[in-house]
Amino acid sequence: MTQARRNGVLSDATFDDVRRDAWPVVLLPFGATEPHNTHLPYGTDTILGSEVAARVAAHCMAAGTNVMALPAVPFGVNTTQLDLPFTINVMPSTQLALLRDVIRSLEPHGVRALVLLNAHGGNELRALVRELQPSTPIMLAIVNWWQAADHATFEQAGDHAGELETAAIMHVAPHLVAPDRHTWGDGRSNPSTLEGVRRGVAWMPRRWTQATVDTGVGDPRAATAENGAAFVAQAVERITAFCCELAVADPSSLWAPAP
Ligand SMILES: [Zn+2]
Repeated sequence: MTQARRNGVLSDATFDDVRRDAWPVVLLPFGATEPHNTHLPYGTDTILGSEVAARVAAHCMAAGTNVMALPAVPFGVNTTQLDLPFTINVMPSTQLALLRDVIRSLEPHGVRALVLLNAHGGNELRALVRELQPSTPIMLAIVNWWQAADHATFEQAGDHAGELETAAIMHVAPHLVAPDRHTWGDGRSNPSTLEGVRRGVAWMPRRWTQATVDTGVGDPRAATAENGAAFVAQAVERITAFCCELAVADPSSLWAPAP
């Protein structure tokens, strides 16, 4: 390993790095372990969540705000993909227990805010935050990183292993993208057979083996590393600004009439 130690990344930090400063804001990336079409790795969401968190921490530190990125949770909620090999599911109730323990671990150490940096659509973290916020003084916030930047960067951002995620991995971990584009699936997906679901009157979880062909949702083939770099940079910039705000926010007055 020739990489330098990354500032603000807990798995790289020593005891001395950590105890020398206060850390008002902490990032906890939530990933997943699941197939991503035929061209992206199972760890796509975990890789992207970890990398965005590390870059946000670095940018915050450069701006004078201490932000610590925790190791990513590598498993996500994948209850409707379990017939796909090596998809590893954790239940929302397991995530709740894990998050409660992480919050309790942080509480004695001066952390003001914990940002859940989500990278997987199946991780619906709001219910967890609604349950846990009343019992902790730590301010809890959620950022779905892929929603933090402009999708207009892409022809069609896509939903799962589509252009957005493919471009982001081409930028962050190009060695993990299948090199021959002709082997990439086109990411087409099947609509629900129920009109109420198609029209948005109702929502039902998708049975992935019925809803998709190659596990992808969204055509990845227009993805470029340049678009991935631009999108990730914009997301990092916006999440950094939010974390810097949060570091000095007053938890007793987070809502007030506009100035
Ligand atoms: Zn993904």
